[in-house]
Amino acid sequence: MAAVAGVVSVKIRVDDITAEAKELSFEEAQTQVNLLLESEPLREYRIEGPIDVKVSYYRAGTELFFAGSLHASTHAVCARCAEEFVLPSERAFRFVLTPRAAGLGEEAGLHAEDLEFSLYEGDEIDLSPLVREQFLLSLPTRPLCADECRGLCPHCGVNLNLAQCGCGAEPFDPRFAPLRGLKLGRF
Ligand SMILES: [Zn+2]
Ligand SMILES: [Zn+2]
Repeated sequence: MAAVAGVVSVKIRVDDITAEAKELSFEEAQTQVNLLLESEPLREYRIEGPIDVKVSYYRAGTELFFAGSLHASTHAVCARCAEEFVLPSERAFRFVLTPRAAGLGEEAGLHAEDLEFSLYEGDEIDLSPLVREQFLLSLPTRPLCADECRGLCPHCGVNLNLAQCGCGAEPFDPRFAPLRGLKLGRF
């Protein structure tokens, strides 16, 4: 198997997953994560360091159960004021892997709804893509540096968290600009 430089995957042998729960802590390198984040609509995010992951796992028959948590120091660009800020990412996750051959049959329907199902095949579980997916799920759809962030003035672009601007009390809407010009011209 050819290893891609700088890309490390965290893999567990399926045979090593037993009925007795085992624990694993590892770091998911930021390189691959940041590549994912550079694709649209996630460009406002990047991580400075690896994702810290703690996971415990066990099997019941052919189904593999994983439960854990992840932590990352995510940098985000505020959707209102466009300033970068640090958004600590935390997520607790649980998922179940079912062998692809077995498919998601009737049995799967009997499981609790809060569990996420995926399929696995082969004799190794690559935890890296699963962790990256869980990390993406931890990101808010619209990052805000603060709930009360006042954003940028749509007229002059001043960051209203830092300064007041002189654009006046009435909200400026560029669609009305021609009207405003007419009015001014008349006086
Ligand atoms: Zn903001
Ligand atoms: Zn302004």
